[in-house]
Amino acid sequence: MLIQGAFQSTGPSSMAGYACDPAKSLGRRFKESPAPTRNDFQRDRDRIVHSTAFRRLVYKTQVFLNHEGDLFRTRMTHSLEVAQLARSISRVLRINEDLVEAIALAHDLGHTPFGHAGQDALNACMKEEGGFEHNFQSLRVVDSLESRYPQFEGLNLTFETRQGVLKHCSLKNAVYLHKKERGLSTRNELREGLQEDDGPEGDFQSVGSRFINNKQPSLEAQLCNLADEVAYNAHDIDDGIRSGLIGLEQLSEVALFEDLRKMVAQDYPALSPRKLAYETIRRMLSEQVYDIIRATHDAIKFHCVQSSRDVREAPPLVCFSAPMRAQSLELKRFLFQNLYRHPKVVETTCWAKQVVSDLFSVYVDNPNEMPKFNQSKDNLKRAVSDYIAGMTDRFASSEHKRLCNPASTGF
Ligand code: MG
Repeated sequence: MLIQGAFQSTGPSSMAGYACDPAKSLGRRFKESPAPTRNDFQRDRDRIVHSTAFRRLVYKTQVFLNHEGDLFRTRMTHSLEVAQLARSISRVLRINEDLVEAIALAHDLGHTPFGHAGQDALNACMKEEGGFEHNFQSLRVVDSLESRYPQFEGLNLTFETRQGVLKHCSLKNAVYLHKKERGLSTRNELREGLQEDDGPEGDFQSVGSRFINNKQPSLEAQLCNLADEVAYNAHDIDDGIRSGLIGLEQLSEVALFEDLRKMVAQDYPALSPRKLAYETIRRMLSEQVYDIIRATHDAIKFHCVQSSRDVREAPPLVCFSAPMRAQSLELKRFLFQNLYRHPKVVETTCWAKQVVSDLFSVYVDNPNEMPKFNQSKDNLKRAVSDYIAGMTDRFASSEHKRLCNPASTGF
C-alpha cells in the first residue's frame, strides 16, 4: 500500500513544530560546550554507539540464547532493527530522526543476560532493595554506569534522549529521579534554561516527572516504543520459524500473517517456504509502518498538536489504527503461547534464572570475586545487580561454571 501526498517522506531539515528541536533541548545534566559539527542529539547517538554497554548487546539474548545459533536476533540486531523502523517513520512524520535513532539504539542497554528470564531472576534477587527494572537500568547505564569521560560518570546525554530511554518507571523510582534532578538543577548543573513553552519554574521537568504527573513523552520517544513492539513481533516470528519451534501452518491462525501469506503465495506460486516467510514478514512490517504513519498523523491532527508542550499534554499520539492494534494483539498472544512458552524455550529460561540467582548469591557472599570497581560501591547488592546486568550471556555462563558448578557443561 503506497503512502500518498501529504504522507510523502521529507528531508530531516523540514521538521514539524511538534518535533524535538535540539536547539531547544532541556540540556545535559552537566554543562558542556556544543560540538562543532553535530547537534546535541547526533552527539548523544554517537556516545551510545561508542559505549561499552552497546557493544555488549551483541552477546545478549533476545529470545534465543546467544550460543543457540549465529543467525538469531540479539539485543544488538534488535536495537538496529528498531532504529531502522523508527527512523523511516520519523522522517515521514517530520519528527527528529537523530533523536529517534539515539533513543532506539539506547533503549535496551539495561537488559540483563538471558533476556526476560535474567531480568525476572535479578528482580527477585533485588526484591528487598527496590527490585530491578530494565528501563530504569538503561537509564542507570547512560547516567552513571558507563565510565569513560574525564568530566563525569555516564554518557551525560540530553534530557530528551534520557526521557526516551526511560520507557516505563515505577512511581517510587520516578519520585527518586525527580528529587535528584531538581537537586542538580538548583546547583545549576542541569540545563541552562527552560523552553519558552515550559511554563513557570514550578513546572520543572525531570525524566521522572511525567510518570508522576501522568504526561506523555516526546513523539520521538513514543515512536521508539511502538517500533520496538513492531520489530520484536516480526523478528520473533522469523526466529521462531528458523528455529523450527513455529511452523508456517501454525501461523494460519494469525490474521495479520495469514492474509499476507496468501497474497504472497498468489503473487509467487513457486516460492520456497523460506522465501515465502521472508516476503510475508516484509509485507507485515510495511503494513504496520504505513498504519502507524496514517493513525499517528490523524491523531496529531485530531488533537490539534502543534508544539512539544501539546505532545506532553495530549493522550498518546503514536499509535496503530484500531484494526491493526487488534491484529497486533492477536500476534502477540500467538507468540506468547507458541514461542515464549514453548517447552524448549522454557527449559533454557529455567536454567538462565538459576544462573543469575546463583551468581547473585556468590557475589554477595564473596564481593572480591567481582572487579575492584564494583566492590567499592556503597550498596553491595545494587553493585552486584549492576555487575550481573552488564554481563553478556556467555560471560554469565562462564562465571557460573567457574564459581558455582565447575563440572557443568551448561547449555
Ligand atoms: Mg527492545
